[in-house]
Amino acid sequence: MADKSFNPFKMAQQQFDEIAEKLNLDEGTRELLREPIREYHFSIPVKMDDGSVKVFRGFRVQHNDSRGPSKGGIRFHPQETIYTVKALATWMTWKCAVVDIPLGGGKGGVICDPHNLSASEQEQICRGWVRQVARNIGPLQDVPAPDVMTNAQHMLWMMDEYEKIMGGRFPGVITGKPVGMGGSLGRTEATGYGVIYTVREALKEMGIDIAETTASFQGFGNVSQYAIQLYQQYGGKAVCVSCWDQEDQKSYSFVKKDGIDLDELMKIADKFGGINKDKAKELGYEILAGEDWIKQEVDILVPSAIENQVNADTVKLISNKVKIVAEGANGPTTPEADKVLKERNIFNIPDFLANAGGVTCSYFEQVQCNMNYFWPKEEVLDRLDAVMTKAFHAVYDLANKKKLYMRDAAYMIAISRVAEACKLRGWV
Ligand code: NAD
Repeated sequence: MADKSFNPFKMAQQQFDEIAEKLNLDEGTRELLREPIREYHFSIPVKMDDGSVKVFRGFRVQHNDSRGPSKGGIRFHPQETIYTVKALATWMTWKCAVVDIPLGGGKGGVICDPHNLSASEQEQICRGWVRQVARNIGPLQDVPAPDVMTNAQHMLWMMDEYEKIMGGRFPGVITGKPVGMGGSLGRTEATGYGVIYTVREALKEMGIDIAETTASFQGFGNVSQYAIQLYQQYGGKAVCVSCWDQEDQKSYSFVKKDGIDLDELMKIADKFGGINKDKAKELGYEILAGEDWIKQEVDILVPSAIENQVNADTVKLISNKVKIVAEGANGPTTPEADKVLKERNIFNIPDFLANAGGVTCSYFEQVQCNMNYFWPKEEVLDRLDAVMTKAFHAVYDLANKKKLYMRDAAYMIAISRVAEACKLRGWV
């Protein structure tokens, strides 16, 4: 978000144009899907603790709701722009469609830095945001969720404001709430587990026993920790994790060839997923440079930290042993690196498929809230497994049949499902 010259929405449109061409979509559908269907821009005045009034800019974008209510997070970020929000809303449409949940794509944001705001100021931003869009969101219209620098408390303030305006209880208006206040069990695990459900299915198709494989993970946050947990439960050996070191302002890789111990690493990690390197050294981990996670001689690479990590330079470091790159993070692979992965026949599980477990579980949260009846964790995870497995195979089958790269196959499925919904509704 910091690079002002980079326009993520242009990139989202380019990706769409390429697939629209391959699908031979008609002009009307292309025009409709290239742009969000609705965009709200507004001001949120806040009485600051020092007595002054500060006005924050807020956004909500609904890219397409032909398959169901829009769904997507709200980010608080000082460099937030409408282009980021539009791009993310577009990608949410494709993500919900590829896993075939009945939701459209949305995203919201406020230009602010929560680090410099008191709890009361943040609460006013949350309530002010809802007051501006209360008539345009709702369990049947558009269901926001947490994202960068927003959390369960922000979601509760937003739900409360919505309920005050609408005069009733509408827990299905927003997801990412704490368990016991409308949140779903299994949400913490959902994204990481979802990544590994897709890895498990890919290995099955390759005829490889997961218990005979090794993997290296970039990131040690929510996605990565739970991905490692399930991968190890399946018998896989995770030999490396890398994470960001706040003190040194650079990343490191932590390697243990006979397998990392997740519990012991979690005990020496902070809440931002940074591992204490002195303690890790004492525990017998080899501490290597940040990019070493990608050089490991493993079967599976799981980039689960930030974007642009598998790029023109780092892709050259990938060992010949690697068979799968499963994208836990959003946008970890650049188009240049994608070309190399294709050439080298490395199997890619694209981000909007691999990490869709999170939004799928948010959808489950919304369903449970609308019923006001909550499922046990096992049921949530079983349903999640079923959705992810089915989505993986739909993409895999198309890729196999038409000899497509997995990312292209996933886009083709997602975009054609949304185009079909628009057509069936008579919009195009
Ligand atoms: P997180 O903040 O919990 O953890 C991020 C991890 O990445 C931390 O361990 C951090 O140290 C590490 N990291 C940051 N910069 C790094 C760098 N340059 N090199 C190595 N490690 C680095 O985040 P998360 O929730 O685990 O999300 C990770 C990625 O997955 C993001 O791209 C996010 O958008 C995506 N994602 C998350 C979810 C979810 O439900 N959490 C859902 C879909 C997609």
